[in-house]
Amino acid sequence: MNVAIYGTMNVSLVTKMVIEKYYNALLTRANAEAFDVVAFVGEEAEAKETDTDAITITSKQFVKLYKKNMIAGLIIPIMDTFEQLSLVTDLIKMGVSINDIYYAERLEKCSGPKEEWLADFIIPYLEKKYLPYLEFHVADQCNLNCRACEHYSGLVAMECFPVYEKVEQDLKKLKEYIQDIGIIRILGGEPLLNKELEKYILLTREIFPLATIYVVTNGLAIKTQKETLFNAMRTANVGFNISWYPPLEHKKDEISAFLDEKQVSYGFSSLITTFTKKQTLVKKDKNIFYSCYQAHCNNLYDGKVAACFLPFTTKYFNEYFGKELPEDGAIDLYDNNLSTEKLKARLLIPFERCAYCTEPVEIPWGMIGNPSVLGDWVIEE
Ligand code: SF4
Ligand code: SF4
Repeated sequence: MNVAIYGTMNVSLVTKMVIEKYYNALLTRANAEAFDVVAFVGEEAEAKETDTDAITITSKQFVKLYKKNMIAGLIIPIMDTFEQLSLVTDLIKMGVSINDIYYAERLEKCSGPKEEWLADFIIPYLEKKYLPYLEFHVADQCNLNCRACEHYSGLVAMECFPVYEKVEQDLKKLKEYIQDIGIIRILGGEPLLNKELEKYILLTREIFPLATIYVVTNGLAIKTQKETLFNAMRTANVGFNISWYPPLEHKKDEISAFLDEKQVSYGFSSLITTFTKKQTLVKKDKNIFYSCYQAHCNNLYDGKVAACFLPFTTKYFNEYFGKELPEDGAIDLYDNNLSTEKLKARLLIPFERCAYCTEPVEIPWGMIGNPSVLGDWVIEE
C-alpha cells in the first residue's frame, strides 16, 4: 500500500526507516499489506535531497495522488509543531477520509523490546489516544481587555477562576481518552492573574509528561510573580509564550533580562499592532470551520472539550449584550458513551456556533471602552 509521511524533518525520515526496516516485517507476519513510503508531504520550499527514494510533494499534490488512488494514506509522525495543527482539517476539507490518516508513535517512546512498541507504532488517527493540541483557562478575565479578544475576556463581569480540584479531575478524565498531547497552552484571559498558576503547571506536567507546555501571557504581570511560579516553571520545563502588545512595546528587553535571570524559557510574538475580527451576528455557513485557523484550538473547560474556546466564552458576549449566539460544540467528558474515536471525530466537525464566524477582517489593535460596544467585537453588517 503506497503511503506518504507528513513532514521533511528527521523525525519523518526516521519514521520511514522504522516502517521499512521493522514495521513492514510485522505486517507481513500478520498477512497484512506492507507500507510502501513513496512521498513526504511538505511545502515545495522544504523539498530537499535525502538518501531515500521518496519524493517531497505538497499537501495539494498529495490530495491529487490520493484521489487518483496512487497514494492510499498519510502517516503523521507525532511532533510538537504548531505547523501541523490545521493539517487534518485541511485534508478533510480537500476530500481525504479521516480513515486514511494515521499517527506514527513518538520516536522517544520506541525503546525496549521491539515487539512491544512496534505493535502500536502506526495507529489510525481517530483511534490514537493522542491530541496535537489542548489549551485551558486558569482565568477568564484579563488585565488588558483588547477589542475583539475572542475569549471575550473584557466582558467578564466578575473574576472567574476555575476550581483547581475540578481541573485536576477533568484532566485525569481526559487522560482516559487521550493519553498524550503534543502542545498544551495554559491561558485565559490572563493566566498570571491566577495565584495558583504554579499548581496548574505542575499538575499538567504530572498528567502529560511528554507534552510541550506553555503559559500564554500578555506579560504585564510577569515581574510581580512569586519566586515559586518560576521554580515550578523550571521544574516542569514550562515556558512562556508572550503575546507582545503595544503597552509593553518598550519593555521587551527588560522582561527578557528578567526571565533570563529567572532561567525560565520564553518567546515573544512579533509586536501586535493589528487584530483580526471575525465574529458576526448574521448567521452564515458553519462550514467556515474547515478554513478556520482556530478550529484546532481544542479547549478544555469545566468538564468539557471543544474544537475551540467559543463554546465556553460566548456566554460572556451573550450576557453582556443580551444576545443568543449558540453556545454549542462542547463534548462532555463525563458522558458514559464517550470514546476516544467519538471525541476525536467530534472535534473535527463544525457546530452551530461556527455559523457566526466569518472571514477575518484586520483592525488596529486597541482596548475596549467602558461600556463596551458591539462594534468592539462583531463585524457590523
Ligand atoms: S491580552 Fe489576550 S486574553 Fe487579554 S484581552 Fe487581549 S487578547 Fe484577550
Ligand atoms: S466557532 Fe468554529 S469557526 Fe468560530 S472560531 Fe471556533 S472553530 Fe472557528
